[in-house]
Amino acid sequence: MLDSTLQATYDQVLRRNAGEPEFHQAVREVFESLEVIQDRHPEYQDHGILMRLCEPERQIIFRVPWVDDDGIVQVNRGFRVEYNSALGPYKGGLRFHPSVNLGIVKFLGFEQIFKNSLTGLPIGGGKGGSDFDPHGRSDGEVMRFCQSFMTELHRHMGEYTDVPAGDIGVGAREIGYLFGQYKRLTNRYEAGVLTGKGLDWGGSLVRKEATGYGAAIFADEMLKARGSSVDGRRVAVSGSGNVALYAIEKVRQLGGIAVTASDSSGYVVDENGIDLELLQQIKEVERGRITEYAERRGNGARFVKGGSVWDVPVDIAVPSATQNELDADAARTLVKNGVKAVSEGANMPCTPDAVAVLREAGVAFGPGKAANAGGVATSALEMQQNASRDAWSFEHTENRLTEIMKNIHTTCLETAEEVGRPGDYAVGANVAGFRKVADAMIAFGVI
Ligand code: NDP
Repeated sequence: MLDSTLQATYDQVLRRNAGEPEFHQAVREVFESLEVIQDRHPEYQDHGILMRLCEPERQIIFRVPWVDDDGIVQVNRGFRVEYNSALGPYKGGLRFHPSVNLGIVKFLGFEQIFKNSLTGLPIGGGKGGSDFDPHGRSDGEVMRFCQSFMTELHRHMGEYTDVPAGDIGVGAREIGYLFGQYKRLTNRYEAGVLTGKGLDWGGSLVRKEATGYGAAIFADEMLKARGSSVDGRRVAVSGSGNVALYAIEKVRQLGGIAVTASDSSGYVVDENGIDLELLQQIKEVERGRITEYAERRGNGARFVKGGSVWDVPVDIAVPSATQNELDADAARTLVKNGVKAVSEGANMPCTPDAVAVLREAGVAFGPGKAANAGGVATSALEMQQNASRDAWSFEHTENRLTEIMKNIHTTCLETAEEVGRPGDYAVGANVAGFRKVADAMIAFGVI
């Protein structure tokens, strides 16, 4: 049970947002962390901050009609939740996946507010997407879908208003089609209106790598704070998309050995360490399935259909696929196998019960809003480069990313200490992220 004021607000959130379990889960997790500062900050209550924070500033739902390769009309649903602009323009990715609904987009947008605040950069929180499934669709179909999606979305965007990026199912190809349509509709080359762009047309070096790199760096920082590091450690990574691939790469650079990758069909274990170049070829270039990795790699790599990637004994876990992919049973297995750190590359991949198991066992737990903030932080760096018509080197941008991840880690740790929950990165991230947003909202008055 939450404290009575928080509970009353939470009950109202439940009433107003029926049937949105992921959104409820995300709100509750933040509220539980805020209990530790409730008494110290009556002004947040006086200004109705929590209730205002839980209600998105704007929610846009729209029809996305398009024609498939057989000439059949298809209709998907598009979403953009412009959640909170206290710290800057709405910023957050677009997800194309059949599971997308308003509740999923709201949970992601809500998380994004605190994550973006933690980066220290001037960006508010938002998220969007569609129940469109790009898997198995031709390039032409994806293009027509993206053009239709942008035909509505463009009127809500702008470099000072709302700046989308990629997420599950939205990579460089989709961002290209979306940007092309935005440019055509507006007759403006407004590069800073979308991030994750191609390097030849306003994109930033390191953006593609940033989320995965950041999650591995965060794991390393958590372990360093405990006198250890990623170096020489076995790491399980789930997923084989944008975040997973570059988490694997950074783990390798830090001296660790990533032994797993997965997709929705199952996972592979490769005791010699995942061959990143092969995985990239299959996933990024050929858009193939993870089974092909085991077939082509040979060398002891094996594919496990279905099952849980968290059964593989490792020192570090970096869940990088999707929400609630690591439950309490999986957490118990990881703990039994001696896991030392869990760094969330995905958004909310660990269930609340799993987090409780990890916390109880003293495992260093890096919540997504801190551990995967490197992606959006580098998106903000892309916006800076667009605004100044500049393009930074890989080294400079990566140094900025590393510095930002280290700062986020320190902020979480110091805040957790300050509020009497030493070592609890989740509480540290929520409190630190929340305070900046709340203070800005107070400064703006009731709007
Ligand atoms: P991608 O689409 O590039 O890759 C997603 C990967 O996860 C794929 O391997 C996919 O397998 C797997 N996956 C997705 N949904 C499911 C599911 N329901 N069950 C099992 N496997 C699944 O997405 P990203 O790598 O960009 O995103 C991964 C996570 O990271 C998401 O939670 C996202 O919100 C988060 N994130 C991403 C950021 C970014 O910069 N891209 C920034 C911050 C967070 P399959 O192909 O079989 O579906």
